[in-house]
Amino acid sequence: MAPTRDPIELSPPDISAYQKGNTGIDYVTTYDSGVAGPHVMVNAVTHGNELCGAIVVDFLFQQGVKPTRGKLTLSFANYQAFLNFDARHPGMSRYVDEDFNRLWSTDVLDGPRDSTELRRAREMRPLIDTVDLLLDIHSMQTRAPALMLAGPLPKGRQLAGALLVPEYVVCDEGHAAGKRMRDYGDFGNPGSPKNALLVECGQHWESASADVAMQTTLRFLKHCDVVDPAFIDKHLAPTPPPQKFITVTDPITIKSDNFSFVDEFVGMEVIEKKGTVIGHDDADPVTTPHDECVLIMPSRRTAPGQTAVRLGQFISA
Ligand SMILES: [Zn+2]
Repeated sequence: MAPTRDPIELSPPDISAYQKGNTGIDYVTTYDSGVAGPHVMVNAVTHGNELCGAIVVDFLFQQGVKPTRGKLTLSFANYQAFLNFDARHPGMSRYVDEDFNRLWSTDVLDGPRDSTELRRAREMRPLIDTVDLLLDIHSMQTRAPALMLAGPLPKGRQLAGALLVPEYVVCDEGHAAGKRMRDYGDFGNPGSPKNALLVECGQHWESASADVAMQTTLRFLKHCDVVDPAFIDKHLAPTPPPQKFITVTDPITIKSDNFSFVDEFVGMEVIEKKGTVIGHDDADPVTTPHDECVLIMPSRRTAPGQTAVRLGQFISA
């Protein structure tokens, strides 16, 4: 793997105190208010090298945040990968065996395969089945503006809009390589009130990503109305500028062993003209399918079957 070009401005928090938890699942703690209300979950380190979520969940624990109604679960999903984090090789701890966030379909979860991440997903699954509202905190490879991945359904877009942050909301179907936790079960069922969001807070190790993660989490908890509003207001930044909504028109899934972009895209670039070449998949040019094409999360991991980039266009909220 090529050495990282991005400075390491964040340190992984010590999460050892949260291993035992109270759910029977390591690194998963559920507080029950005893009062009727939703089961709300704030989840960190679905990818082990993404530090901002761990910093925020650690903060919530340190602050002794408890639900005023319903239940609040605080969790570190792929803690095994996270515990492997090494600042000298910060990209290496994304997962142990495979991507935890591509396993969340029943055929994979119930299937015969085995891996460190599948065991963890199967261990967490019964708890996830009881969650009404999930915020899954992530970060990105490149220094691009933060964005919310709201999923393909109107309910995801509405929840993203209710939080007011981050500035960009991307309405998307996920990845050909497998289903994300945010799309699992009733989160992806248009007839269910259950709902989930995935926030991409900025580059994995930039300090600003922790601020984005914090503000998004506070606004999520405020919207869910499960935490003392005085605690939220104490830490809340001023109301941000209006959000911009983007829908994914074309996920670009890599076909060959020889994929490259024509430029060092970081994400959220807007390509003015339809038909502009943005990369090559072996001999095939990859072109923009429409004018005003937004590049969403171009990847530096360019293996066949993986998503190279997703192309989108601005829509009204
Ligand atoms: Zn991630």
